[in-house]
Amino acid sequence: MRALILRRVGLLETGAGGPVIVGRAENGDVLRLQGFLRSNGHPHQRLDPETDPEAKALIERFHVDPGQLPIVLCPSGQLLRNPGENELARCIGLVGPIDPNRVYDVAIIGAGPAGLAAAVYAGSEGLRTLVLDCRAFGGQAGASARIENYLGFPTGITGMALMARAYNQAQKFGVEMAIPDEVIGLDPASYPYDGRFVLSLSNGERASARSASKARACIIGLRPSRQSCAPGRRWRLSARATRPARPWFIWRPR
Ligand SMILES: Cc1cc2nc3c(=O)[nH]c(=O)nc-3n(C[C@H](O)[C@H](O)[C@H](O)COP(=O)(O)OP(=O)(O)OC[C@H]3O[C@@H](n4cnc5c(N)ncnc54)[C@H](O)[C@@H]3O)c2cc1C
Repeated sequence: MRALILRRVGLLETGAGGPVIVGRAENGDVLRLQGFLRSNGHPHQRLDPETDPEAKALIERFHVDPGQLPIVLCPSGQLLRNPGENELARCIGLVGPIDPNRVYDVAIIGAGPAGLAAAVYAGSEGLRTLVLDCRAFGGQAGASARIENYLGFPTGITGMALMARAYNQAQKFGVEMAIPDEVIGLDPASYPYDGRFVLSLSNGERASARSASKARACIIGLRPSRQSCAPGRRWRLSARATRPARPWFIWRPR
């Protein structure tokens, strides 16, 4: 685990490895893609199309029109032309398809501090756990320059460093991450209620989870007003899903 973290930090600091973005530093789409990769702790490089000879060679080789910039060259060799975050995440292997037939013990919506804490405890208890977040791990805390009031860090720690530790810790316990994947609906799997529920994702996939026999399967409440995935979109919560036979649902009303 320590070696993995140090290697990742080294790659981030040296700007080596990961996808190559070709585009001007001030371009809005370049900033969007870099922001996405940075907030997911993913190493990447940016090349200037006007001054960098390697960038010019890539543009020539793939016959890229200036209007198609920025382009992204993934480590697999695939070239994307001004991709969305989801397309980029899939190209670099950050997120893959969720097996719709796989039933998770716990599905957690949101990879902020609350979601990641729940994931660490669920994973460490051996529960088959899935965490979904529409943007990046860390939630609001990931944007904090310095967190001084978190237990065990008397000198403070950046939000990103704290959340990256939690993210790695959850993965160490076998928690599966689906980031970026936006949840748009939550329904019981069948009627009568059999303990399973289905999460609908904005990309059309579905993931299912069942309430564990003794513990409660948890859905962590979100604060969509502040961290909305798509501004104006509300996610659908089936009325029956809020009234299960036994309590399993942790929900923060907005
Ligand atoms: C700049 C900044 C500095 C801060 N500094 C401090 C501090 O020093 N000390 C302190 O105690 N607190 C601080 N806070 C507050 C703290 O970060 C929040 O209280 C905390 O992050 C809340 O955690 P959460 O997991 O409940 O929710 P969030 O952090 O809001 O996480 C919710 C997650 O859910 C995801 N999500 C939302 N909708 C969906 C959906 N439909 N599908 C999938 N995913 C979804 C979001 O992308 C997000 O990642 C700070 C906040 C900010 C913005």
